[in-house]
Amino acid sequence: MKTTAIVLAAGQGKRMESKVAKQYLLLKGKPVLYYTLKAFEDSLIDSIILVTKEGEEEYCRKEIIEAYGFQKVAAIVPGGRERYHSVFQGLKAVSQYMPECDYVFIHDGARPFVTNEMIVRVYEEVKRFKACVAGMPVKDTIKIADADGYADTTPERSRVWAVQTPQAFSFSFIMKAYEQLIEKEDDLRKKGIVITDDAMVAETFTREKVKLVEGSYRNIKITTPEDLRIAEAFL
Ligand code: C5P
Repeated sequence: MKTTAIVLAAGQGKRMESKVAKQYLLLKGKPVLYYTLKAFEDSLIDSIILVTKEGEEEYCRKEIIEAYGFQKVAAIVPGGRERYHSVFQGLKAVSQYMPECDYVFIHDGARPFVTNEMIVRVYEEVKRFKACVAGMPVKDTIKIADADGYADTTPERSRVWAVQTPQAFSFSFIMKAYEQLIEKEDDLRKKGIVITDDAMVAETFTREKVKLVEGSYRNIKITTPEDLRIAEAFL
């Protein structure tokens, strides 16, 4: 079985309030993206497609891939406006460079604490379920707000999960779902549907159930300045 990881690092990082994009910020002297790539490099994953912002491909190749000697990065490709555009670019690169791929892991470059155990757990489940995502039960009570900012409903906390990445899929299955998404993205926009993760693409365009797999409370997405402090503490 051949597995490829698409590592996403084409975001703007607006919430970080920093001139440097969050994936390049340093944690103990190394870029966030180093830790993310290292986890996949040292795992059962066969190859990695790195998605960066357009124009940053060479910087990534020199300063990260070559500088740290990563061997599994098969291609560096430019991403797109929304996260799902970047994922689609990554999936097309998998078709081009890894056409024999069976399973694809889609992972946020800004989640450097993905572990080998987590990758193995997700891999074991994707072989059974075609579509599975890492996540953890929430610790806080969640409220669904109405348009005016009042609490509308309260979902039963024991059934609410915060979803993380990796999100893993049979490659042909998720490629077809993404092709449909790209074809229908104008319709979704008109309906006010915003696609924020890959499981949502599978939920919207296929009948396959998405299996939730235990991630970790440490598997944070470095998004705001306080996340960097937490990440340093973890390291
Ligand atoms: O914006 P968000 O926090 O959801 O980003 C999650 C991951 O997706 C980050 O690693 C970011 O670099 C990536 N991303 C991307 N292309 C975009 C937006 C986000 O690769 N257009």
